[in-house]
Amino acid sequence: MVKRDIKGRFIKGSSPIPTKNKEKFSKIRSKIQKKLWENKEYREKMSILRKGRIAWNKGLKGCNSGINNPNWRGGISNNPYSVEWTETLRRSIRERDHYTCQLCNKQQGDKAHTVHHIDYNKQNCNPKNLITLCVSCNSKVNANRDYWTKYFNTSINLNIKLYGVFKSIRA
Ligand SMILES: [Zn+2]
Repeated sequence: MVKRDIKGRFIKGSSPIPTKNKEKFSKIRSKIQKKLWENKEYREKMSILRKGRIAWNKGLKGCNSGINNPNWRGGISNNPYSVEWTETLRRSIRERDHYTCQLCNKQQGDKAHTVHHIDYNKQNCNPKNLITLCVSCNSKVNANRDYWTKYFNTSINLNIKLYGVFKSIRA
């Protein structure tokens, strides 16, 4: 049973995912990952991602200078959030991602995980552009932005697929 305080945060000891569903989910997750891995295109994409951050800049003209530098923030962090950026939306993203950091797999504890904009554009609140990260991973992805955008764009499709399956077994 999930319990929240008045600010919508989880109360200690009340797991967001019932234990038996967690087990079921991890079984299905590994099954789907195995299936995805059989897909050549996916495998190639992931192997590039796992090789390192340099691959994404390779051969791209001017990628490391000026506006294209992954560390160049371009004032994005000062942009006002779009109107759709609500706690309800963030909560639904966390639910989709099973309250788990999508980088280090840390399960959400007392403190809610952050919801990260994959393309760093805070106006883009499409669920496909949003992913759950713990606080430390969220600060990690502030550098090497090109790399992380590509990385999450690949993994988000897996998450959405997984969530569909998870919802159907829960129903
Ligand atoms: Zn993390």
